[in-house]
Amino acid sequence: MRGDGIRARKALGQNFLTDRSVLSRIAALVNAGTGERVLEIGPGKGALTSYLAEQAGRLVAVELDDRLVPLLRGSFADNPRVTIIEGDILDLDIRETLARYGTPPWKVAANLPYNISTPVLFRLLDVRDLFTRLVLMLQKEVGDRLAAGPGGKEYGVLSVLFQLHFDVTRELLVRPGSFHPVPKVDSVVLSFVPLAQPRVDVGDEDYFRRVVKASFAMRRKTLWNCLKGGALGVPTDGIRDALARCGIDEGRRGETLSLQEFALLTKGLLAAGGTLPPRAP
Ligand code: SAM
Repeated sequence: MRGDGIRARKALGQNFLTDRSVLSRIAALVNAGTGERVLEIGPGKGALTSYLAEQAGRLVAVELDDRLVPLLRGSFADNPRVTIIEGDILDLDIRETLARYGTPPWKVAANLPYNISTPVLFRLLDVRDLFTRLVLMLQKEVGDRLAAGPGGKEYGVLSVLFQLHFDVTRELLVRPGSFHPVPKVDSVVLSFVPLAQPRVDVGDEDYFRRVVKASFAMRRKTLWNCLKGGALGVPTDGIRDALARCGIDEGRRGETLSLQEFALLTKGLLAAGGTLPPRAP
């Protein structure tokens, strides 16, 4: 492979995918037609990029490592449908950047750098209206959290916030031997299909996020203990009343609440006067 002499940088989460069967399965999941546009995050040495470049009508790949960018540009120099952007996906205005290369919808493909996967997920969540499908390789533990239902230890903030807006499917388990250098953990490929409408009406999404985060802030504590200190703008009696009116026992733990129950609770707390503290200027 081109770039064999370039040493992987741990700080950039560089574990390059070398297993052809996994690469072709990810490309098949992306399933980009000739008229479709794809954003790839972290193309690395271009292993997945090559597969995507064969399919897509337009491929924009964002890579932070300035050693890899010239290599990628050289590899795809004869393909005018491929653009390599040198940049940090966490700094880039994704909406504005993609608008320069084509109108939505886009698909997203990535073997994400695991050290920044959660902030990248939140950036993608905020611009989900641009996408018809995301196919993301993640550390198995993070993937399990995204796909988890209520009741288990994997279920948490990521599960609730993503399942509000996406159908999340666990597609493929990938073992460490499929990468170079070999990581210490298993990986998983997930697909995300954005819903036309949120799965449930949550009243006010910023407030909903605050309620969910407060509910999981101390996992071993009861919902009541989590919410009473959660800066939700409701006096403690009001929180107790809202829980009772929603039929949610205050002694339950956050991890037992379904998405529907979080929505109900959010609306109950809003009805009790709940507000977010003003943002710092
Ligand atoms: N897609 C390649 C593959 O599958 O072999 C590389 C995947 S590797 C796990 C993650 C890639 O993301 C690396 O190439 C790394 O340099 C790049 N990367 C790390 N942080 C980044 C960031 N903030 N913005 C864009 N790319 C980043």
